[in-house]
Amino acid sequence: MELPLIQKSWKKGINQLDIVYPNKKFGGAYNLGVLIIYNLVNNIPNWICSRVFLDEGKITSSLVGFTFQYEPDYYNLPKMLSKAGISLEKEKRKQIIFAGGPCVNANPNALSKYMDFLVIADAELVLPKVLAAYEVNKAGDEKEAKKNFLKEIAGISGIFVPGISSKPSCAYLKSLDEAPYPLYQPLPVGLPKDYVFGNAFLLEPERGCPFVCKFCPMPLRGGVRIRSLEKIKDIIGKGIALNKRKKVILYTASFTHPARKDILKYLISKNLEFSVPSIKVELADREFLELIKKGGQRTLTIAPECNEELRFKIGKHVKDEQYFKFIENANGLSFDTIKMYFMIGIPGQDEKALEEMAAFIIKAKKMCRAECYVSINPFVPKPGTMLSSHKFDEKVIKKQAKYLQNLLGKEGIRFKVQGVRQAKEEWVLAHSKEVILK
Ligand code: SF4
Repeated sequence: MELPLIQKSWKKGINQLDIVYPNKKFGGAYNLGVLIIYNLVNNIPNWICSRVFLDEGKITSSLVGFTFQYEPDYYNLPKMLSKAGISLEKEKRKQIIFAGGPCVNANPNALSKYMDFLVIADAELVLPKVLAAYEVNKAGDEKEAKKNFLKEIAGISGIFVPGISSKPSCAYLKSLDEAPYPLYQPLPVGLPKDYVFGNAFLLEPERGCPFVCKFCPMPLRGGVRIRSLEKIKDIIGKGIALNKRKKVILYTASFTHPARKDILKYLISKNLEFSVPSIKVELADREFLELIKKGGQRTLTIAPECNEELRFKIGKHVKDEQYFKFIENANGLSFDTIKMYFMIGIPGQDEKALEEMAAFIIKAKKMCRAECYVSINPFVPKPGTMLSSHKFDEKVIKKQAKYLQNLLGKEGIRFKVQGVRQAKEEWVLAHSKEVILK
């Protein structure tokens, strides 16, 4: 059993949409895109929406949306369609299958062979128009109805219908205050331990990121939009009462909200625990860290990415000194763990850059009073970003990992670069003109 669910009763003529997260529920239950669509569609009187995950639920509706957060999830599309008895080939099925999410935003063409349409937009902006068009065109011959529906929605900005739309267009909200909030966030009763955020309510104070790191697709998605503090307080009040949660996850890429400290103070005043994901050290002064500590968070996550010179070249304008100052501030507050994320395989990352990165890691580790966890991952160039054309080179990455292992091993720092092959697969899929699935 899950709570809280939006209760809707079946009646003749009701329309149904399934929103599919093509991976496991322990992570997918917290996907805000899925929750936005679940709330949005169920709030329309003659519509009903169910969530389907790779390991729970089954596709049963004739309008089905997939959200792709991570390219290797493409492989779960044929599995999930076949489980529901639906053909992967558009021409052979009566159902209408569409996709959205970050992977589709970055490369709408990759899945166009299999999708009836693609959403390159904020769902709140386009989905009501799509559902209205579905209702108008659903009567009569199924094939004809589908054709008319697709022809009609091809005219909606942010909807790409392969074979009808001339080229992909996008559409983003100007302000989040104009969008409804997904207050219903169902989680299983007796939550299993592996559910990534635990028994928490997701709060999205802002969408997008004002920084423009050359490797990151986030700035491509409509710029930064914020929710007003007043609206945020209202969402916290209603969301906590409805979901009966004691913890809030700040669902944001960089948490640059101008009232970020006031948001944290408000959560503390309501005796709510909270967790801020990755922290921008240049925005996190001592007071900000004190608030995070008061909110019960024990681990801080930062992403220095690489050595300072290369960091500036790839658009992340943060000095080593700012990271060290951050560690000093965190030391005074007795956090349990500081997690630091780095990348290898970045263009221009030569031996000198790796030596400076190793020196940074050694110094940061020595400074940290908390347990310091270092994660080094292969850089995956994403389409649309300024580093999109860089080629993923497995050999170079393995060589760099070895070089770093030598440098850090001398200081007793051990690490393993995980998933080089998977990262290559992600890169190939992300840049595919047309993904081939079976
Ligand atoms: S890496 Fe982080 S700070 Fe940089 S653009 Fe992406 S989300 Fe923003």
